[in-house]
Amino acid sequence: MPNKPPITFDVVAREGEARAGLLTTRRGEIETPVFMPVGTAGTVKGIRFEALETELDARIILGNTYHLWLRPGIDVIKRCGGLHRFIGWQRPLLTDSGGFQVWSLGDLRKISEEGTEFRSHLDGSLQFLSPEVSMQVQAVLGSDIVMAFDECAEGNASPDVARASMELTARWAQRSRVEFDRLQANGADTGRTDKNENLSGDQALFGIVQGASHVELRSESLARTTDVGFDGYAIGGLSVGEEKSVMWQVVDAVAPEMPSDKPRYLMGVGTPEDLLKAVSRGIDMFDCVLPTRNGRTGQAFTSRGKVNVKNAQWAVDTKPLDETCECSVCRRHSRAYLRHLHQSGEMLAGMLLTHHNLAFFLDTMRGVRQSIRSGEFTKFRQAFTEKLNEGEQQNALIDA
Ligand SMILES: [Zn+2]
Repeated sequence: MPNKPPITFDVVAREGEARAGLLTTRRGEIETPVFMPVGTAGTVKGIRFEALETELDARIILGNTYHLWLRPGIDVIKRCGGLHRFIGWQRPLLTDSGGFQVWSLGDLRKISEEGTEFRSHLDGSLQFLSPEVSMQVQAVLGSDIVMAFDECAEGNASPDVARASMELTARWAQRSRVEFDRLQANGADTGRTDKNENLSGDQALFGIVQGASHVELRSESLARTTDVGFDGYAIGGLSVGEEKSVMWQVVDAVAPEMPSDKPRYLMGVGTPEDLLKAVSRGIDMFDCVLPTRNGRTGQAFTSRGKVNVKNAQWAVDTKPLDETCECSVCRRHSRAYLRHLHQSGEMLAGMLLTHHNLAFFLDTMRGVRQSIRSGEFTKFRQAFTEKLNEGEQQNALIDA
């Protein structure tokens, strides 16, 4: 192990289990709790990097190993100098391991001890992903935070199936660690930077807790993952179709037991209410496709609940999407105009809604961080939830 760590994490304020922290990476500082916009194929769909950097001030975005590995492929990215240079984004990047995407292929995949064989969703070609391959791909991508290669069980997996999957994930975590360390020592990481003298300049590696809906398996998974030793820890395999109550049982049981001096990441979650609830359980990092994906289908997240711009209700409504939002979309455009764009199939509709949705998620997290720092998170969450519920009730009346 190098003397200097690849990242540092300091908790600067607490309120109950909720914590505000500072995550320092080789490419800059990230205040937590943080929401990471998802940039699947090297793009956060529908928004330019300038807007992410300046107006929205997103400090970190996520890239998908599976997608980038299949297209454009690691040869292209390597020859273009790594993912940061290839896409033109110099702030921190986190890449997932590909495990989740392969899992979501369903019957197209075959799992063995060695790894997962599957057919590419692009051309049907036979591919093989393993802990070693995933670490090699993520080294070429040069992301600042790398995720260990895991196996995700179905949300409703039986105890036996969930145990086998969790144990495989534990063995793959160890193999990920070994291969990752070998690659760092060999200089395979294209994203290396030595600007911060307190950091090693290496990539950071996060481990993932699995075990489906079974709390005792989750606890065992956490113990085995922390035994391997990672720079941060994630809860994976949630928000995959299980009941919400099951997800919270797992988060309630696992989050407080995760190492308190390392960042805690809840993968693939969630709605704004989910984010606040998870923060109250001690989670620091989130990613979710909701703001971007729903933006493309005409749904806006607002402080008064979801607004569907398709509704005829908004045809001549000159108000912004969210009267309390200060984003450039809400300052300039009306619901009526956004509805018109959406109904006309204009690409600007998806772009503007994506921009507002990301602004809303990132502003909400900014408010969360400030409120934890000032000891007013509980109050903030209560006011946020009340306003949201009141708005949702009014929207329901309109829809009816
Ligand atoms: Zn807005």
